[in-house]
Amino acid sequence: MVFEVKCTDLAARIGKLTTPHGSFETPSFIPVIHPVKQQISPSFLKSLGFECIITNAYITFKYYGEKAAKQGIHRIVNYDGPIMTDSGGYQVLEYGKVNVTPSTMAQFELDIGSDIPVPLDKPTGYGLPYNTAKSYVEETISNIDETIKVIKNNGYDQLSNDGNNNGLGIDDNVLSSKGELWTGTIQGAEHFDLVRHSSSILDKKGFSFFAIGSPVELMESYEFSLLARLIEATKSSIPNKPIHLFGAGHPLTIPLAVALGCDTFDSASYILYAKANRYMSSSGTLRLEDLSYLPCCCPVCSHFTVKEFNNDEPDSRTINLAKHNLFILKQEMAAVKQAIYDGRLWEYVLQKARSHPKLMDAIYALKDFNYIQQNTPIFKHKAIYLFEPLDQFRPELMNYRKMLIDNYRAPTGNECLVLYPDQGIRPFYSSYVLQKLSIYYQNASICLYNPFFGLIPVEISDIYPASHNIFVKNFDEYDSKDYPVFLNLLDSFLKNHKFKLIYIIANKFMKGLIPYIKTAEETEVKIEDFNGFKLK
Ligand SMILES: [Zn+2]
Repeated sequence: MVFEVKCTDLAARIGKLTTPHGSFETPSFIPVIHPVKQQISPSFLKSLGFECIITNAYITFKYYGEKAAKQGIHRIVNYDGPIMTDSGGYQVLEYGKVNVTPSTMAQFELDIGSDIPVPLDKPTGYGLPYNTAKSYVEETISNIDETIKVIKNNGYDQLSNDGNNNGLGIDDNVLSSKGELWTGTIQGAEHFDLVRHSSSILDKKGFSFFAIGSPVELMESYEFSLLARLIEATKSSIPNKPIHLFGAGHPLTIPLAVALGCDTFDSASYILYAKANRYMSSSGTLRLEDLSYLPCCCPVCSHFTVKEFNNDEPDSRTINLAKHNLFILKQEMAAVKQAIYDGRLWEYVLQKARSHPKLMDAIYALKDFNYIQQNTPIFKHKAIYLFEPLDQFRPELMNYRKMLIDNYRAPTGNECLVLYPDQGIRPFYSSYVLQKLSIYYQNASICLYNPFFGLIPVEISDIYPASHNIFVKNFDEYDSKDYPVFLNLLDSFLKNHKFKLIYIIANKFMKGLIPYIKTAEETEVKIEDFNGFKLK
């Protein structure tokens, strides 16, 4: 088993990825280290809990050549855990080309014992005209075909699964020579049909690990909506297998990418930002020289005052700043994983989105991604929190409303419907209010209404999430115009049920909707004001 999933929330997964040099937990941030000049040692990275590192096979090839093939990459960089190797695609993006063939790189990556090798690809970057991007995608696929020939020449080991694939869809034969996880690099960037095309072709070639290429420029220009759609285009073609996102090393981008279903990320951001005097924080980056305080308790920030940190000599300051940045990345990974375990990733991602409006734009895109609903657990052990209109689109509620329309039917014989405002009484099923309502409206179907859920029929009011939620109860502040999903749900519900009489006990929110409620001609509607409504 290459990838096991332990826990999911939204499209995120806590999983375990197995390589020849051991397993590691995902989602995982994979720090980039330079194969020749390491400013931060791999042992320091390991001590912080980073269980996999990535280095550049092309630079290793140029600098060490045969020596690296003899010694192996683990000795070269002095790290005994899983090592991913990039192949020179970044250099192609920066300099246009590299003077090495895909087969030479593939053989070299096998010879140095890379755990997660990357074929030499041709990154599309961002902003290329469609036809140019298409030719780059084709070149990457052709390079990958050359790479596959090399893998097969080295003893293509058709690692078959034990049949217990946990619904992950990885029971295909895995493309590997000695257990290494070859990376299917997906190109196409903002041309999403090319991304889908590239994803499905590579999936058929037997890869068990994939990487989304070219997102760095999208992230640097804060095009988070496009980034979200790029990830969605990949995930809609490859829903189950592990996905890497190249170049994601910003504490703001990581929770979004995890929520969208990316499992690993690599970046040199910790050192590159440090060189530019950029201090990472959980809500973005700051310039060290602009700080009056150090808002962090890592060993570096606990050791220095802000003045001492600023006045440190440049090389030492860069190293310390890089270490601080790594502590922030470690903290971010831990926080996002805890949110997955708690089933609170939606809440967490929304908190993060408040750090930048362009991140919030990307959150609005999530509501259209079906795969996020499908991957969100049907039951959670903690209540969901509902704060604002955006929360009507959270996947638990989308799933709930779908179940309500597709599967729920009111008890037969009830010709009357009572709509009563949800006051947050849990469990409603055994409440005094319901007892009274049932006596008052005999043989009626009683439903709570709630701006986030739509309707909650009493018979299902004790199921998740109808009974496991806490919402802001400031009813006078709810504006019906902000909850378009409510009216759609009510329309579908009334179409499914031919009630002859509807009693609406209307609060301010409901009063705003009454003119727009569509009922059958023969249905009688009686409205009572919730203010002053008394159950006798
Ligand atoms: Zn710090």
